Amino acid sequence: MAQSGSALEWGSSGRWFESSRPDHGNNGKEPSGSFLHFRGVILFSKAAEMTVLLNRLFPGQSQAVLKAMAEVQREVFVDPGWRRLAYTDRSLPIGHGQTISKPATVLRMLSAMEPVFGGKLLETGSGSGYLASVASRLFSRVYCVERVLGLVESSRTNLQKTGARNAVVRYGDGSAGWADNAPFDGILYSAGAPGLPASLADQLREGGLAGVPVGSKTSQEFTVWKKVEGDLVRVTSFACSFVPLIGKEGWNG
Ligand code: SAH
Repeated sequence: MAQSGSALEWGSSGRWFESSRPDHGNNGKEPSGSFLHFRGVILFSKAAEMTVLLNRLFPGQSQAVLKAMAEVQREVFVDPGWRRLAYTDRSLPIGHGQTISKPATVLRMLSAMEPVFGGKLLETGSGSGYLASVASRLFSRVYCVERVLGLVESSRTNLQKTGARNAVVRYGDGSAGWADNAPFDGILYSAGAPGLPASLADQLREGGLAGVPVGSKTSQEFTVWKKVEGDLVRVTSFACSFVPLIGKEGWNG
């Protein structure tokens, strides 16, 4: 990820690199990310460098989300054999036939929720826990539901490792949300549904935002909705490709 013509280099540990640009990532245009001062040089994490690149490739996304992503070591969440690709913009295996979403997708999903930051978020399909860990830095509380038991366990461990103490993960079918903790300010589905889940509107607070990938089992449109006077109004959408939402209000329901 070193750029030609710049003084950016991966450190010998593979974890940190140094920059000769003292303003790098801190000039008001690029996310400040997480960095350390060490013997007169500024050291950036790979996660922070990834957010600088994401900010260039996807301008106009939330700076708060980029800052949160800079604080979360994505390598913790992927299968060990894939760690060297953890800071590339790829979805990667997390076990049980599931994948962690691309960083750009996480950036776009969470940026769409910016108006409700500080509130309560529900994520259906927490997988490795990566999106939830980033979200825990932006919301007061994050409620997750995951239908694969092995992933419930790994997402809980990964959330703990990355300091996300305000996130909980429930084992079960989350296609119909999590009624006991509703209403939510934000709802995100991290798995693709054949249609808008029927329970969604009831569990969203008035003025709240919900993002759901809707389409086929392999490609969907991630569509963001706002609850206005009890109805869901479409705000925005982008093309995406998530694993299928399996359950009562998903596929094979
Ligand atoms: N956001 C995750 C990516 C998850 S991939 C991350 O950051 O790693 C989608 C996840 O949705 C998978 O783990 C899958 O098991 C889960 N899933 C699919 N259908 C579900 C359902 N009905 N309820 C809960 N989780 C579901």
